Amino acid sequence: MASPTVTLAPEKRVQELLGAERVLSAFRFFESHAAEITEEQIRLCSIPAPPFGEAERASYLRERFREHGLTEAYIDEEGNCVALRAGRSRSPLLVLSAHLDTVFPAETDFTVKRVRHRLLAPGISDDGCGLAALLALLRALEASAIETEGSILFVGTVGEEGEGNLRGARHLLTAGRWAKSVDAFISFDGPGVERITHAALGSRRYRVHLRGPGGHSWGDFGVANPVHAMGRAVARLATYPAPSEPRTTFNVGRIAGGASVNVIPREAMMDVDLRSASATELQRLDAFFRRAVREAADDENAGRRAGDPPLELDLKLIGDRPSGETPTDAPIVRLAEEATRALGYQPRLDRSSTDSNVAISLGIPAVTIGAGGSSGNSHTLDEWYDPRGRDIGLKRALLLLLGMVGIKSD
Ligand SMILES: [Zn+2]
Repeated sequence: MASPTVTLAPEKRVQELLGAERVLSAFRFFESHAAEITEEQIRLCSIPAPPFGEAERASYLRERFREHGLTEAYIDEEGNCVALRAGRSRSPLLVLSAHLDTVFPAETDFTVKRVRHRLLAPGISDDGCGLAALLALLRALEASAIETEGSILFVGTVGEEGEGNLRGARHLLTAGRWAKSVDAFISFDGPGVERITHAALGSRRYRVHLRGPGGHSWGDFGVANPVHAMGRAVARLATYPAPSEPRTTFNVGRIAGGASVNVIPREAMMDVDLRSASATELQRLDAFFRRAVREAADDENAGRRAGDPPLELDLKLIGDRPSGETPTDAPIVRLAEEATRALGYQPRLDRSSTDSNVAISLGIPAVTIGAGGSSGNSHTLDEWYDPRGRDIGLKRALLLLLGMVGIKSD
């Protein structure tokens, strides 16, 4: 970090913030505006934001940033919505972010329904509550006239999920206007008040295509069959002895191919997700997987009818998320822990795959935290979010962010 204003020990710093009248006024804002914050979340989440289709939600967020005082809010070259809340100094510069995209395709019904305390909609929690937190924090800072020493960059990122491959965060931190000037990074992702994701879960994702000449199931029997070969590849991968420690996982998440029951397919494809807490284990799994696919194609080719062409294998890397860690003694982690404790909760350090992966891989201290409230059925059409207790998450976030950038003294 450039020149953090962190001079006091984190616990002292949090106590000092809890004694500041403006901070308490912001706390009251979260409580008295709970219903409004939820209404805003409903409006945001009703705007479709499929992968690579976040533009409308991004411009809505930009208008809200502008309405609440950040008049220079803009959409960057990648599609991120970015707004600077300048402090007395440009540094430290803290990014506060949440992701705009959902995992759901464009034709999804994003209408938000309310059933008792719950809000139901795809993406309502992941990351609708994170986006709502950005606006709630901005509004509380404004309403309580809190000026800061360092500066805050509010960002709604694109492409956090799946094939987005963290493209928004990557652009922001490596190519955009703010590349090289960000000193710390916070991402809100999902609900809760205890989780502090300080470690990045690395992953590699592949799209595999196998192509052959195809033919008639009876007349051309013996032609290399891409679906049969893909089946062999899946079966091989499924035998991988993935260790539970360090946790290592694999998933064939999508499989497609073929035309009809009596047609030898010309093509088969699958999408595969490989993850590990350890870079070495991820490497090992990655090598096993690539060999499994190659050998599956070779086996199918070896048994094909004489004179027919072999299957062609096309293995494309569609996702590569770096792993790494923000050290547990870094101020951002210590402050997050102290803020959690100060509100009566037990901090829980965690490893996950989020926008913070990019920051962590660049050596920028980063954490991903929950935005309060609770949720379930994430990444399904039955996703729900319960905003009760959201104010705790917002208070924790406020203590953390002010602990990082400091309140401007009068
Ligand atoms: Zn998310």
